[in-house]
Amino acid sequence: MKFIPYGRHTLTAQDIRAVVGVLKSDWLTQGPQVEKFERELAKITGARFAAAFSSGTAALQAAYFAAGLSPGDEVITSPLTFAATANAALWQGAKAVFADIELETGNIDPKEVEKKITKRTRAIVPVDYAGLPCDYGALRSIARQHKLWLIEDAAHALGAEYRGKKVGSISDMTMFSFHPVKSITTGEGGAVTTNRKDFYERLLLFRNHGITKDPTKFKFKSHGPWYQEMQELGLNYRLTDVQAALGLSQLKKLPEFVGLRRRIAARYRKELSGVKGLILPQEPSDRRSAWHLYPVRFTGEFSRRRDEIFKKLRAAGIGVQVHYLPVYRYPYYRKLGYPKGICPQAEVFFKSCISIPIFPRLSRKDQKFVVKKLKSLG
Ligand SMILES: *Cc1c(COP(=O)(O)O)cnc(C)c1O
Repeated sequence: MKFIPYGRHTLTAQDIRAVVGVLKSDWLTQGPQVEKFERELAKITGARFAAAFSSGTAALQAAYFAAGLSPGDEVITSPLTFAATANAALWQGAKAVFADIELETGNIDPKEVEKKITKRTRAIVPVDYAGLPCDYGALRSIARQHKLWLIEDAAHALGAEYRGKKVGSISDMTMFSFHPVKSITTGEGGAVTTNRKDFYERLLLFRNHGITKDPTKFKFKSHGPWYQEMQELGLNYRLTDVQAALGLSQLKKLPEFVGLRRRIAARYRKELSGVKGLILPQEPSDRRSAWHLYPVRFTGEFSRRRDEIFKKLRAAGIGVQVHYLPVYRYPYYRKLGYPKGICPQAEVFFKSCISIPIFPRLSRKDQKFVVKKLKSLG
């Protein structure tokens, strides 16, 4: 039976040629392709700097390191996200504090963020859920007022805009993921964009074991031309040139990919609006979503039937998914002492949502099939 996934990468012959070209070259690990990829990513997002990483998770951890998170610090983030957003903060010794979401967008609610600020808070980490930028007008002003860093998890939102500003140039640091279901792919990979040189330099240090080769940055006297200096505790989080070549080739198609996603979202809106018990995702007029996901929600009686509807869609060969179980409800977080129900809106969202297929090459025919099935179950 045919299976339509909820998300999928789009590769072309051009992408494959770009990768093969690097495989035939002398350089495989981080090198000239990574540099080019970073320059292009910075250009596209309107940021001054971009640093590439081996995954989005690695990129997040590096951003937390760059922001100087240390044990005892708190970061305020959304529970409606992939576990990596909070996990990476834990790896840097910080505590994750969850602030509830807005039901209409699935994004963190600025008013809830304010309630969670303590003397230990160091950063706010909003997640652009499903590709829709958060309320950055409010979030930036809260961050400024309380002297907190704004570290944006834009794993879903490469190619999105907020009030005409590109995601990647809004927050102090913005993290992207290049996992195959995201806007563009490098197989695995991630990046952080920033306008701050000090953050950029710390990001580069972190992905290379905290080692610098730049003599002007040495803290101790050089032992000779071979000398490199380890100054911080980092890791090997480098992206390879093989991956960067794919990323560079993919980046050229970002506007096309986002355009196709937007067209699919517009069709879903047209064909599913007015269906009883169904709430469609919103796109406020001051924002442009990258439509990583198309999460529909069920209300009333249909909400109680979510799991049954989910199973029926899967049985019909439609790769629906649930994004997300609130992070604090996983066994690991429960063990850390997070109680169930701390973010009631996120719980309501989780219980009533299903992500239906959206990706650039979703065919018209397959989309019609998804619409028909969904309507027949209502
Ligand atoms: C994909 C994703 C990540 C992690 O990125 P990886 O590249 O898979 O490590 C983090 N946050 C969110 C919201 C994601 O969707």
